[in-house]
Amino acid sequence: MTARVLVVDDIPANVKLLETHLLAEYFEVLTAEDGMTALDICDKTQVDLILLDIMMPGIDGFEVCRRLKANPKTVNIPVVMVTALDQPEDRVEGLKCGADDFLTKPVNNMQLMARVKSLLRLKMLTDELRNQAGGSVSFDSLDDQKFGPSTLEERGLTLLIDGRATSHERIAKSISEIADINAISDPEAALFEAAETPYELIIINDNIAGCDPLRLCSQLRSREATRFVPILIMLPPGEEQHIVRALDIGVNDYILHPFDPNELYARSLTQIKRHRSSEKLKASLSKSVELAVVDPLTGLNNRHFLDAYMDKLISRSKRRNTPISLLITDIDKFKNVNDTYGHDAGDEALKEFARRLRSTVRGADLACRFGGEEFIVLMPDTTQQMALQVAERLRQSIEEQPFDITGEGDPLPVTTSVGVTCFNPEYDDSKTLLKRADNALYEAKSQGRNRVVLKEVA
Ligand code: GH3
Ligand code: MG
Ligand code: MG
Repeated sequence: MTARVLVVDDIPANVKLLETHLLAEYFEVLTAEDGMTALDICDKTQVDLILLDIMMPGIDGFEVCRRLKANPKTVNIPVVMVTALDQPEDRVEGLKCGADDFLTKPVNNMQLMARVKSLLRLKMLTDELRNQAGGSVSFDSLDDQKFGPSTLEERGLTLLIDGRATSHERIAKSISEIADINAISDPEAALFEAAETPYELIIINDNIAGCDPLRLCSQLRSREATRFVPILIMLPPGEEQHIVRALDIGVNDYILHPFDPNELYARSLTQIKRHRSSEKLKASLSKSVELAVVDPLTGLNNRHFLDAYMDKLISRSKRRNTPISLLITDIDKFKNVNDTYGHDAGDEALKEFARRLRSTVRGADLACRFGGEEFIVLMPDTTQQMALQVAERLRQSIEEQPFDITGEGDPLPVTTSVGVTCFNPEYDDSKTLLKRADNALYEAKSQGRNRVVLKEVA
C-alpha cells in the first residue's frame, strides 16, 4: 500500500522521526511546521492521510482538524492526532473535532503503522464507493453525519461481549448516552445473537475464560451478517502483537485496559457514525445505480441502459458475424387514454403494456422503455424474419385483450404500431439502426396504426 502522508509538527525532531518510520515503509511524505501551511498543502495537493500534532504556534491541531473537516475538499482525508501521553482529554477533544484516530507520543512504530494502514484501507474503500457512484449521489448528508455533534440522535445498537458483570457495568455506563447495549458473556450465544440483530457496534472485552478474542473477531468477519459491523476490542496493556493481528483480521479499533471512559465514549461514537455513513453510502449507491438504468414506472430498462447495451451488442455481433434485430413500438392514440381517463389510468395502461411486452420477448432480448409510450426491443442473434414474428405476436397480445384499468367499468381497447429492422454490419451504427426502425414505425402509423412494418436493410 502506498500513499502520501502529511506530517504536521512544529518540532523538527518529531517530524523527522515520523518521516523516517514512514519512508521505511515506502510512504511518500510531505511535512509542515504549522497549521496554516498544512491547510495550504491539503488545499493544493492530494494528501491521503495526515499525522497532526496538537500544540503548535498559530492555530493548534484541533483547529486545523476542524477546518479540514469543514471543507468539502478535505473532509475525507483521515486525520490522526498525535497527542502527549499525559493529556488523555486531548484524545477525546481530538475525536470530537472530527479526527479519525490518535497516537500517543513517543510514537511507537508498530502502532503508527497499524493506525495508518487501517485508516488508508478505510479511505480506499470509501473512495472506491464514491467513484462508483460517479458523483450521482449527494454525500452532503453523509458528511454531516460523520462530523456532526459529539453525540447521536439515535443511540447505536451495541453488542457487548464481556465475561464479567462488573466490567460490563463500567463499560455500559461510559457509553449509555450513545449506545443501547445488549451484554452477553457466552461467545457462542454472542455469535448467534450478532447474526440475528443489526448491531451497529460490537465491543469485545478480552476477559472471557477459554475464549480467544481474535478468533471470535475472525468468525464475526467471515459471516455474511456481521461482515461490516464495526468491532472494537478491549485488551490488557502490553499486547501489541495482538493489536496488529486484530487490525489485520479487520477489527476496527482497540482500547487498552485500564480504559478511560471518555476514550471509550469517543471511539464508540466514531465507529457508530462511520458505520452509519457507510451503510447510507451503500444504500444510496445501489439506489442510484438502479435509478440510472431502470424506468421506475414499468421496471423495464431505460434508454440510458439501451444505449450502453446496444454498443456492446453491436461490436459483439460484428466480431462474430451474428444478426441483431430491433423493433420500436408506440401505443396508438395514447393521448386519448390520458385525456379521457386521466393520467393515472394512463400510467396503469403503460404498466400493463410493459408486462405484456416482457412476456412476449425471450430472456436474451432487451425490452426497454425508450420514452413516453414508446418501447424498444433489441434482439441479439435474431434474423429479420424472426423479428417480424415477435413484432406481430406483440401487436396481437396488445389488441386481443382490452386493458383492465382500476376504477374504469369497461376494459380499455388498446393497439400499438411496430417498426422492425435488422442491423447491417457493413454500414450501420446504433444511430442508423434506430433511425431506420423509427422510419418503419412512422410508416406503420401513417398506414393506419395497429400494424407492423418492416424496413429491409437497403
Ligand atoms: P400516435 O398514435 O400517433 O402515437 O398518438 P399518441 O396520442 O399516442 O401520440 P402522442 O405522441 O401525441 O401522445 C403521447 C402521449 O403519451 C402524450 C403523453 O401525455 C402520454 N404519455 C407519455 N408518457 C406518459 C406517462 O408516463 N404516463 C402517462 N399517463 N402518459 C404518458
Ligand atoms: Mg403513441
Ligand atoms: Mg409517441
